[in-house]
Amino acid sequence: MTGKVDVAVVGGGITGLTAAHHAAVEGASVVHFIGAGVPGGLVANVGELEGFPAAGPVAALDVALRLTEENEKLGVEVVSEDVARLETAGPRWRLSTDAGAREARSVVAATGARLRMIDVPGAARLMDKGVSQCAWCNGSLYRGSEVVVVGGGDSALQEALHLAKFAAQVTIVTRGETLKARRSLIDRAADSERISFRWEAEIVEVLGGDSVTGVRLRDRATGEAEELGCAALFVYVGLSPASQWLPEQIARDTDGHVLTDASFATSASGLFAAGAMRKGYGGRLTHAVGEATAAGLAAVGHAARGKP
Ligand SMILES: Cc1cc2nc3c(=O)[nH]c(=O)nc-3n(C[C@H](O)[C@H](O)[C@H](O)COP(=O)(O)OP(=O)(O)OC[C@H]3O[C@@H](n4cnc5c(N)ncnc54)[C@H](O)[C@@H]3O)c2cc1C
Repeated sequence: MTGKVDVAVVGGGITGLTAAHHAAVEGASVVHFIGAGVPGGLVANVGELEGFPAAGPVAALDVALRLTEENEKLGVEVVSEDVARLETAGPRWRLSTDAGAREARSVVAATGARLRMIDVPGAARLMDKGVSQCAWCNGSLYRGSEVVVVGGGDSALQEALHLAKFAAQVTIVTRGETLKARRSLIDRAADSERISFRWEAEIVEVLGGDSVTGVRLRDRATGEAEELGCAALFVYVGLSPASQWLPEQIARDTDGHVLTDASFATSASGLFAAGAMRKGYGGRLTHAVGEATAAGLAAVGHAARGKP
């Protein structure tokens, strides 16, 4: 891996793929570090995207693979490695992976976020033994069973609706009295005979020996405990930004979200950030696409200004 480029894009989710695309369309030389896994990021396993304009239902992996292919046709160099470190090298940025280093005039950081896990007894021990964060991967294992989903946002509801195709009953456990999800998902969940809600409750323990047999809940209003039998627990309780590979001096909020201005510039010249790692990100793929377009173009503009 050698050579200097105009723009480096880091992150193989929809934000990174879109930013690389727009930078290449503008004629910049682009290297795109998509990470070690398949492209697609948080939605890589989602078999049917919500609210993503396309001619009919579409699987995220198909979108991501198609975008990667199109980017390669535009001349984007796609590297299936994680960037471990970013540092300045004179007027450029140096990006290091386990295989080597590359330099770029500007960088778009698009490494998104990871799903948070609940920190209660049993959750880590029973991971992949009934505790899961991928309904599209594991949902069909629970045909005819009772399952619990914890969370109250878009992903909790979207995944609960998918699970309801297999499970006898899906209980959504949520801390609040209302949901934060988009209206269409709330309405579909409310209409499903197989989905019910346990409001104002939190999971305090995941129960089971070799596999999940239930969860212990605490009612947030009364403090009372109760047990709910289930064969699986799917956890969608929010995201943590994946920004640890950025230099320490890049401004972030206390959770690690990168701070940017309205043009997606970070606190360091030539470093832009977009998508789920950014403070103020809207949360939907269409937000990712918009932010990535603007960040990709801003990165090209910065790179061009630095050219002799
Ligand atoms: C279960 C679930 C379902 C969802 N469904 C929908 C939906 O149907 N419609 C919708 O609009 N939104 C949906 N969302 C929200 C959507 O997933 C996010 O808004 C979107 O994925 C953000 O894209 P991103 O590219 O910024 O980040 P991510 O999707 O998190 O992608 C980041 C990428 O960067 C890579 N990466 C991380 N660190 C490094 C590194 N150091 N070097 C190189 N690469 C790295 C990761 O491997 C990943 O590929 C869903 C979210 C979840 C959790």
